[in-house]
Amino acid sequence: MIKILPNCIGCGKCVPVCPFGALSLENRKAVVNSACTLCGACVSVCPVKALQMPQTAAASADISSYKGVWVFVEVIEEKGALKNRPVSLELLTKGRELATELKEELCAVIIGGNNSALYAELSAYGADKIYSVEGPAYTDYNTAAYANAMIALINKYKPSIVLYPSTYTGRDLAPRIAAQIHVGLTADCTGLSIKGQNLVQTRPAFGGNIMADILCPGHRPQMATVRPNVMGRKVVSAGKMAQVIMEVVPVTAEAGKVRIISKEMEATAEVEKLDEAQIIISGGRGLKTAENFNLLNAIATELGGAVGASRAAIDAGWKPKNHQVGQSGVTVKPKLYMACGISGAVQHIVGMENSEVIIAINKDGSAPIFNVCKYGIVGDLHQILPKVLEAIKDSKK
Ligand code: FAD
Ligand code: SF4
Ligand code: SF4
Repeated sequence: MIKILPNCIGCGKCVPVCPFGALSLENRKAVVNSACTLCGACVSVCPVKALQMPQTAAASADISSYKGVWVFVEVIEEKGALKNRPVSLELLTKGRELATELKEELCAVIIGGNNSALYAELSAYGADKIYSVEGPAYTDYNTAAYANAMIALINKYKPSIVLYPSTYTGRDLAPRIAAQIHVGLTADCTGLSIKGQNLVQTRPAFGGNIMADILCPGHRPQMATVRPNVMGRKVVSAGKMAQVIMEVVPVTAEAGKVRIISKEMEATAEVEKLDEAQIIISGGRGLKTAENFNLLNAIATELGGAVGASRAAIDAGWKPKNHQVGQSGVTVKPKLYMACGISGAVQHIVGMENSEVIIAINKDGSAPIFNVCKYGIVGDLHQILPKVLEAIKDSKK
C-alpha cells in the first residue's frame, strides 16, 4: 500500500484522484485501505509530498550501477540434439539494437546440462558475452533451480534489462525472478525501445484496443517477456565469438526436491510446433464440428504444416488449447497462414497478421479477415476445402 507520511495536512486532494477508492480522510489525515494497487496516481497531487511509494531494495539501490542488456536463452531438444529456441535468437536480435543504443553490452544467459554447442549461434546473433551455468542438475528445466541461478547472476552483475521468451518456460520463470528481486515484469511485449536510459515496453492493453507503453524508471533490472515471432531475427556478427563466462551456481535444497520422473513430447512428428511452423491451416467456428478439423489436419499433413484454431474453436473443444492462435494463444509468423471459417476478430489478427501470405475462406464477404489477407475466397468452406485437398494431392502426382 502507499505510505502516508506524518506531514499530511489533510487537504483531501489525493482522495478523488485514486481510481480504486483506496484513499479517504479520517481525523483530518489521509488513510489508505487494502484496495490500493500501488498505481502511483496520487503521489504527484499531494502538495506536501506526504504520499510515498514503498521502496524495495532494488528501487533504492543506485540504478546507474545497473548496466547491460541480458537475454535468457531457452534451449530445446530437437531430434536428439540441443538447439537455441528461435525466440531466443529473436530476443538477441532486439537486444542487440537496445544494447547498441544504450552503448552497453548484450549478454546471453544460458543454463543447461551442457551448453558449449550453442555458444557460436548466440555469438552470431550479436551477444558480446555469454554467461553459462552448466551441470547435471540443470539438464532439465527446473523452475526453482533456474530462477535461483538467474537471481545469483543478476545480483552479481546487475544488468539494466533482462528479456525472457514468452513461452511456457519464460512465463514460468520470469515472474518468480521478478517477485524474488522485487522488480516489475511486463508480459507479452510486442515492442521494445529506449527512451533516455529507460526501456519502453509496449504491449496491448484492454483487450487489444490500446497499446500501452510501460516504463520502470525507478527499478532495475527492467524485465519483460516477448512472444515468439513478434521480433525479427538477424545474424549480425557471423564468425565472431562472444566471451564465455562459466558460472557455478549450487542448486538449492528447494530446487533439489524436484525430480523429473518422465518426459513426454507434446507435438507429434507430423504436426510441427505451432509457433515455429512455416505453414499453418487454421479453423474457426465456421468449421461447425471437431470432425471437420480432420480436413484441416489432412491439408496440413499434405503440406507439412501445423493446424491452428481460433479461440471460438478451442472453447468449443474442437482442438486442444495449445493450437490457439491469437492474443491469448500463440503468435505465429509462417510463410502461409490459411484462415478457414474465422471472422478475423482483433484478438485473432494480432496473433497471425505478420504471416507472409494469408489466405482466408469465409462465406461472409464482409468478414474482417478479408482486410488482412492476401487472397480471399468468399464461399462455403465445406465445399472449398475438399477441392483444395484434392488439388494438393493432384499436384503431387
Ligand atoms: P466467429 O467470430 O463466430 O466467426 C466464424 C466465421 O465463420 C464467421 O465469419 C462466418 O462467416 C464464418 N463461417 C461460418 N460458416 C462458414 C462456412 N460454412 N464457410 C465459410 N465460412 C463460414 N480469439 C482468438 O482466435 N485467439 C485469441 O487468442 C483470442 N483471445 C481473446 C482474448 C480476449 C481477452 C478476448 C475478449 C477475446 C479473445 N478471442 C480470441 C476471441 C475473439 O474475440 C473472437 O471471439 C474469436 O476469435 C472468434 O472466433 P471465430 O472467428 O472462429 O468465430
Ligand atoms: Fe490509490 Fe494508486 Fe494512490 Fe494506491 S497508489 S492510493 S491505488 S492512487
Ligand atoms: Fe494528505 Fe497529501 Fe492527501 Fe492532502 S494530498 S490529504 S496532504 S496525503
